[in-house]
Amino acid sequence: MKKPLLLTAGVLTAPAVLFAFLVAGTPRPGQVQADAAPGTCVVPASNQRVPQSDARDRNWTTIIERGIAKKIPGRGIQIALAVTLVESTGLNYASRKVPESLRYPNDGIVPGDHLSINLFQQQVGMGWFDTIENGMRVPVAADSFYDHLLKVNGWQVMSFGAAAQAVQRSAFPSRYGKRQAEAVAIYNRLIGSAAPVVPAVATAGPNIDECKQETSGPVAISGRWANPLKPAAYVLTSPMGWREFRGIPNFHKGQDLGVPIGTPVHAICDGVVARAEWDNYGGGYQLDLDCGGDILIKLMHNVGFKVKKGDNVHAGDVVAISGNEGNSTGPHLHVQVEKTGELINPVAFFADRGVPL
Ligand SMILES: [Zn+2]
Repeated sequence: MKKPLLLTAGVLTAPAVLFAFLVAGTPRPGQVQADAAPGTCVVPASNQRVPQSDARDRNWTTIIERGIAKKIPGRGIQIALAVTLVESTGLNYASRKVPESLRYPNDGIVPGDHLSINLFQQQVGMGWFDTIENGMRVPVAADSFYDHLLKVNGWQVMSFGAAAQAVQRSAFPSRYGKRQAEAVAIYNRLIGSAAPVVPAVATAGPNIDECKQETSGPVAISGRWANPLKPAAYVLTSPMGWREFRGIPNFHKGQDLGVPIGTPVHAICDGVVARAEWDNYGGGYQLDLDCGGDILIKLMHNVGFKVKKGDNVHAGDVVAISGNEGNSTGPHLHVQVEKTGELINPVAFFADRGVPL
């Protein structure tokens, strides 16, 4: 994954359009459990994670996921959580003292202290991250914290606060130890929500139900190209281009299609599955299709897959199940088209191939 591409991955479904979608009568995005009528799109509880709307829970879940990925003992993950409680209350802060940080997704802007950014308040130029952009990425910041923790000799037998202080070198070391109970409670609450580091199976498990949308007809297919979703299954929401994300201008690299969780996603071309895995930078369960001719199409925020990396697919095959995973504020499919790494507007791309979105 090229590093800048996922920064804006599908973070917003335009609320007004989503509202129109809600009242249109089709299955209600987000209403995945309680009162779904037969035939609507339901995802079992086992496939649901924390509400994406809660920035703190989303950040803490990422910290837990990265800890698991790096095989950090639970206590080490709890230390990381305690540090965020002290430094940022669990919010990924940009800083006015580091103007570039304002350009990247964040949970708020602070006046700034010693060029520190992100939810650990890691300082620029101190070896925490290579670029400001990376420093503002929660998974990168978490990995950096863990890497520093692992370098502390005997951290496993230190007091909670002393281990945190050895990493943070804060002027106020006693603060960390005082947040231990709170950090343990957060860990216990969210550990069950953490995504598997690598999905147990690449294909969707039997517990992922598909939407039944028999009335909306087959997906549009033209030659070796197809629309990823059945007609009437979705609405166009956030387009490719500049938009505000939490008050900050941000380039959105694809077209969002608002669609209920559980909707089958179809292969866009005759091609090869280039990637089918959890994306640590916000893409959720991300499926990339190599369509040949240097065209790569990325489908983000899914809950699971029907294919695995290396599979040959035909336009119209069901390849994934849509969701609200990763850096996403509402159920949708993010469609991103690249030719030799350059972005192409998906609306024009699909229209040109006879399968307009
Ligand atoms: Zn998007």
